[in-house]
Amino acid sequence: MARANAAYYARRNPFADFTTAPEIGQVFGEVLGLWAAMVWDSMGRPERVLLVEAGPGRGTMMADALRAAAVLPGFLAAAELHLIETSPGLRAEQARRLPGAIWHDDLAGLPPGPMILLANEFLDALPIRQFLRDDAGWQERWVEDGASTLRPTEFEAAGEPGDIRERCEAALTWTAALAARLGAQGGAALLVDYGPAESGPGDTLQALRQGAPADPLADPGTADLTAHVDFAAIAGAAGPAAVHGPLPQGVFLARLGLFQRTAALTAAAPQRAAALAAAAHRLTAPEAMGRLFKALAICHPDLPLPPGFAA
Ligand code: SAH
Repeated sequence: MARANAAYYARRNPFADFTTAPEIGQVFGEVLGLWAAMVWDSMGRPERVLLVEAGPGRGTMMADALRAAAVLPGFLAAAELHLIETSPGLRAEQARRLPGAIWHDDLAGLPPGPMILLANEFLDALPIRQFLRDDAGWQERWVEDGASTLRPTEFEAAGEPGDIRERCEAALTWTAALAARLGAQGGAALLVDYGPAESGPGDTLQALRQGAPADPLADPGTADLTAHVDFAAIAGAAGPAAVHGPLPQGVFLARLGLFQRTAALTAAAPQRAAALAAAAHRLTAPEAMGRLFKALAICHPDLPLPPGFAA
């Protein structure tokens, strides 16, 4: 599954298969940009800060974020833009929207220094392992010649026959490295993704091809594969850093002023009123993206509670 998804992002235009919050409305990236600027302010306005996005897709969110963050004088002059992206095609698209950015294959490639990292739907794209429980115990699901097979595993957990458990080691390792870096060098990260607040059993591997559900094992590399993010496990992996949330996306965006920003955009362009209202609804309504999607912040322990996370 790991290789199928890497091949997918490297070769295809994923946005033909699914849409994401930044593509739904400019307000999403704008409020995240304000979040980043306010965090910089709370860090004591360092002269230089790495502004990092992991998995920037088409670059839409960061372009919207930078435009909005310009309201805080000094932030853009301090911010050095770094993008973590493995897909050559998406890097080219990001370069068109984000001139002056510096690209990296992974976190380890970033230069040292305090940073503010944003990521939307990055963790859900990392490969998972699936474990199935039968009467004899747990087995791991592997993919062989396009079909799923079961193999012995060292995995251990409580469970009933028929249970399925998922583990995204790539996301846990990545989060641990992120938290270690924030603890040592300062800064904060905001991870927005979809999944439950509590860990639980279930098969959440999902494939989308041109907006429609597809068989995850058919034609590897041609469908977008994602799985729910286990926020409790991610928070656990953040170790000594301070973890805030997860908060439902709708609550988080409303606290950051998404509706006020929508009203201002509507006043400036009344002909866009219906589209702006539809985007705000889709991003925040519990039955749309407002509840399943969540925001989690990981911060240097000395930083105050980041914007949006106060009760
Ligand atoms: N954040 C964007 C795109 C989400 S899709 C949005 O919200 O629209 C996932 C993104 O992560 C894509 O840009 C994909 O190419 C990138 N990606 C997937 N696996 C990656 C990995 N292991 N390292 C770096 N980037 C990765």
